[in-house]
Amino acid sequence: MKTIVKKQKMGMIDNVMHQFNQAADLMQLNSSIRKILSAPNSEITVNFPVKLDDGSVEVFKGYRVQHNNALGPYKGGLRYHESVDIDSARALAMWMTWKTSLAGLPYGGGKGGVQLDPKKYSNAELERITRRFTYALGDNIGPEHDIPAPDVNTTPQMMAWIADTYMSTKSTNERTKHAHVVTGKPVGAGGLEGRDRATGYGVVVALKAWANHHSISLSGKRFIIQGFGNVGFWASNFLTEEGAILIGVQDASGSIYNEQGIDPSQLLNFSKSNGGFITGFSESNQIPNDLFFSLNCEILVPAALGNQITLENVHEIQAQVIAEGANGPIDAEANDFLVGKGIDIIPDIYCNSGGVIASYFEWLQNRNGEIWSLEEVLSKLEIKMTTSFGKILKTAKAHNTDWRTAAYIEAISRVEQAYLQRGIFP
Ligand code: NAD
Repeated sequence: MKTIVKKQKMGMIDNVMHQFNQAADLMQLNSSIRKILSAPNSEITVNFPVKLDDGSVEVFKGYRVQHNNALGPYKGGLRYHESVDIDSARALAMWMTWKTSLAGLPYGGGKGGVQLDPKKYSNAELERITRRFTYALGDNIGPEHDIPAPDVNTTPQMMAWIADTYMSTKSTNERTKHAHVVTGKPVGAGGLEGRDRATGYGVVVALKAWANHHSISLSGKRFIIQGFGNVGFWASNFLTEEGAILIGVQDASGSIYNEQGIDPSQLLNFSKSNGGFITGFSESNQIPNDLFFSLNCEILVPAALGNQITLENVHEIQAQVIAEGANGPIDAEANDFLVGKGIDIIPDIYCNSGGVIASYFEWLQNRNGEIWSLEEVLSKLEIKMTTSFGKILKTAKAHNTDWRTAAYIEAISRVEQAYLQRGIFP
């Protein structure tokens, strides 16, 4: 566990900068714009005190990095994890700029979180941490300025606390206008039907587009998934609906395997009764973590943390396609190895963009006083993501490059256009 946290911290910013520079070289990005996009616009660090249940006070460190807002307000998740620090927030914020741009949304990119292990705190403590963090961020977030969302270990309930805290700091007749300060809220508190499943659904839309591109079917394909949280569960759920077979799962507690198939809903029920962990599920065998990536399968979905696939384990991968549910799960060297071997990689800035696309729908819904149905949400999401896949294929062909670099070129071009048309103030 410790090694994974260390690898995360060391590599993510190098990873995203390497990907950015590779695309910028190939597309011959305007040199002034390249300088602007290489650094975040602003970085906020807050230390804030919270009273714990035993009456003692702990000071927490929280971050919000705002990478770029040339296309619209900053948008991106808040993460509660021990690995959260300024470098990981910088990397994740930059990825958000590319993700929102590629999806054609009127947003920029931001990311943040609090450095903590949420499992060590009670629900009441997590509520006070979330509310005090929101208060400490103050007007650094706002519905037309910077709009957070859930990420690793943050939940719809926490988003509702953020909205409530933020709105409570506004004057009485302003309050209700600010619900769209955060997305990923529970449906009863202004959330969107389907936001919970949108990222996992998007991963499967991306895999359907991949299968279509190769004129094959997802039915009968075996898949393994790393991470069985929001993204991991929903991706497994929708992939099995397509007839694919879940044979292996890994989470923070360990890895499980069943050649005959694992039912995602049964596994979810088990994990809910098991502190959120999958190991011990009776319909599977536990296997050592270092055997997980070598499982024989056609599809691999990393849906946990960054930098999980490195030169240490990339040679073990058997899958034909890797659908990046997580942000930055493959480091730069491992990526080059996989591309050289001809393994398809559906890149994170496209593959897991279903979440931010649905967040945009939620933001619009709140802003316009509308209520969208689940069917409407999923069908609009599918259209948007299928269109983006077509653009990636076209750009990859035009530049004779891999899908990740093509996705970057598409995303960077849109931001470049905004700067070229507007100019640089003053
Ligand atoms: P989550 O907190 O719901 O789940 C995280 C999962 O990863 C858990 O099952 C956890 O046990 C597992 N995990 C943690 N450490 C691990 C380790 N060392 N090895 C193996 N598994 C480990 O988080 P989530 O919202 O599902 O996010 C997962 C990934 O998807 C993150 O990279 C996140 O940035 C990305 N993402 C999430 C969304 C979203 O809408 N939630 C959107 C886009 C991208």
